[in-house]
Amino acid sequence: MEQFEVVVIGAGAAGMFCAAQAGQLGCRVLLLDNGKTPGRKILMSGGGRCNFTNKYAEPAAYLSNNPHFCKSALARYTQWDFIDLINRYGIAYHEKTLGQLFCDGSAQQVVDLLVNECALGQVTIRLRSAVLGVEKTENGFELALNGEKVSARSLVVASCGLSMPGLGASPFGYKLAAQFGLEVLPTRAALVPLTLHKPLLEHLQMLSGVSVPAVISAENGVSFRESLLFTHRGLSGPAVLQLSSYWQPSEYVSIDLLPELDLASFLDEQRQDHPNQSLKNTLAQHLPKRLVECLQTLVQLPEATLKQLTPTQQMSLVGSLQNWRLQPNGTEDYRTAEVTLGGVDTKALSSKTMEANKVPNLYFIGEVVDVTGWLGGYNFQWAWSSAWACAQAVAAQ
Ligand code: FAD
Repeated sequence: MEQFEVVVIGAGAAGMFCAAQAGQLGCRVLLLDNGKTPGRKILMSGGGRCNFTNKYAEPAAYLSNNPHFCKSALARYTQWDFIDLINRYGIAYHEKTLGQLFCDGSAQQVVDLLVNECALGQVTIRLRSAVLGVEKTENGFELALNGEKVSARSLVVASCGLSMPGLGASPFGYKLAAQFGLEVLPTRAALVPLTLHKPLLEHLQMLSGVSVPAVISAENGVSFRESLLFTHRGLSGPAVLQLSSYWQPSEYVSIDLLPELDLASFLDEQRQDHPNQSLKNTLAQHLPKRLVECLQTLVQLPEATLKQLTPTQQMSLVGSLQNWRLQPNGTEDYRTAEVTLGGVDTKALSSKTMEANKVPNLYFIGEVVDVTGWLGGYNFQWAWSSAWACAQAVAAQ
């Protein structure tokens, strides 16, 4: 049976980075993945340009049952450390918005970087390699793969959550955690479009593809100011994806379609200057025409000129556009979700090393752990930081 000091399960962002670091620190590492190629999700990320980190990455941008858990790893391997690595490879990048850093070229550059880092650490990579079973032995772990067995002193689970099953996602990590007595918190799809009930969807159908800047808020008061995109299934765009991590089934969301504008004052000013201007044309100065037309039926926009608009109508209009409350009927679920909320309970792990408290030499890193970032490079940063922390620990043994 082949023996390794470290076996990493999952050649995604966290697994590749951890394997590379541990290898470069002198460990004999085997990296396994069930797919044909490494880093499949990285290739899809950021619209093919990989939003590899965020300049403003900080613990407040992460959701977890224990919000303190991510602090140590994020502080020990920061966004600036990963940016240094990107710079060392001469990968050109740009900031899009809100500190989000994307490759100028392609996400393939990040995968190539990780593959090269693994080569520098003399990591053995085995693809199309499903792990059929794991057993604890006196000296570590024994893994049954398709057709062979390998042993490992340390086992690192970097097999991610349930989002995008088409890219290799599987509940493997959760099952393994449960096998070793670690608690797994309930999971749900996050950074995912919200879907709408049929009658509302039919009203909004004509808006499919329209994007507007908006502020969208959840019932718990969390809100995001970014673009909102109407789709043929419901609502998407960065603002909605962000909010989906906080939205709970059956809750309402509130949308301000004119976050930059004091609508009541704007209408008063316009009424003074252009009393005979239609309400529709007035609104079209700040909203896409298609949206104004749709709102006509949706919020019963009066067919009126500004001077005909009564104070009550104006008040109700302001409420409809700046505090539009609607009730999504669900999300598009793991099929299109960028991440999975929940997962291996951080209570079971050391925040410094990612090692299971009760099972020496067993580690969980990346998205399989109950740490989920906002949209915007935060999830990759968690992958790099948790992987780095783990690599230091396995190499120190
Ligand atoms: P992954 O990168 O998913 O890697 C897990 C690996 O484990 C996979 O290769 C999988 O095939 C393998 N695996 C699973 N089960 C097994 C098994 N039983 N045996 C062997 N191998 C197994 N985050 C950002 O920060 N910026 C972005 O721009 C961004 N864009 C995204 C776009 C899309 C479409 C998606 C789906 C996600 C995006 N994310 C982004 C989120 C980010 O990709 C993940 O948070 C990150 O990849 C998690 O890293 P990971 O290593 O934990 O898991």
